[in-house]
Amino acid sequence: MEEDHPIFCFQHCSRDENILCLSLPNHCPLCSRDLQTTQMLIPPFRLTYPFQCAIKSPCSVVIRPTHGSFLRDYTNSSNLHVGITNTKGSVYDYDEGGLHVHSPTWTSTETLTIPVIQTNDTMWSHTWNIRLEQWAMQQQWTADRYNDTHHNCYDFVLGFLQYMGLDKCLPCASNRTEFCAKMIVPKTTAAAKYISLYRKLYKDKVVIQTAAP
Ligand SMILES: [Zn+2]
Repeated sequence: MEEDHPIFCFQHCSRDENILCLSLPNHCPLCSRDLQTTQMLIPPFRLTYPFQCAIKSPCSVVIRPTHGSFLRDYTNSSNLHVGITNTKGSVYDYDEGGLHVHSPTWTSTETLTIPVIQTNDTMWSHTWNIRLEQWAMQQQWTADRYNDTHHNCYDFVLGFLQYMGLDKCLPCASNRTEFCAKMIVPKTTAAAKYISLYRKLYKDKVVIQTAAP
């Protein structure tokens, strides 16, 4: 499995400045003193990582860019690919190649996940797996029936949520546009902030931000 990509934050000599980095520099970018031998006001901690590996997110809608990865390739005009996980985190997804189960394209730690049901409810979990299997077995998920606009990965995922009757409590599951606006865009917006900071750090090594008062 791939490693995730942490961003660290610390304060050295000023309460007013947060120092962000991908790996700790030798010297403080503010006062130039050696970080190994001088005390920090706040030792390095990891910013919340917005992504997860699909295998760690059972019974969830999972999202990745159709091409490439979030940190390296994603822009707000990128196409997204969605799938759904069973109780063990195996992804079921549908694309122009047909239906895939547990495809290696989902091993990245850069996946956005939306948990749909609590997996500690064993009754529900059991039903989820059985119904997901039934849904995936249907003849409609073949490569030749794939269509970019009206029979695609969203139809597979939202169709499953409807098949589970979950559109009753999650009304946006009955409509792709609404589902994107209510469930996916909030996730990609939060991730975009992390992505832009990550890319800036990759280029500049260190970013100084004014600390919130
Ligand atoms: Zn300093």
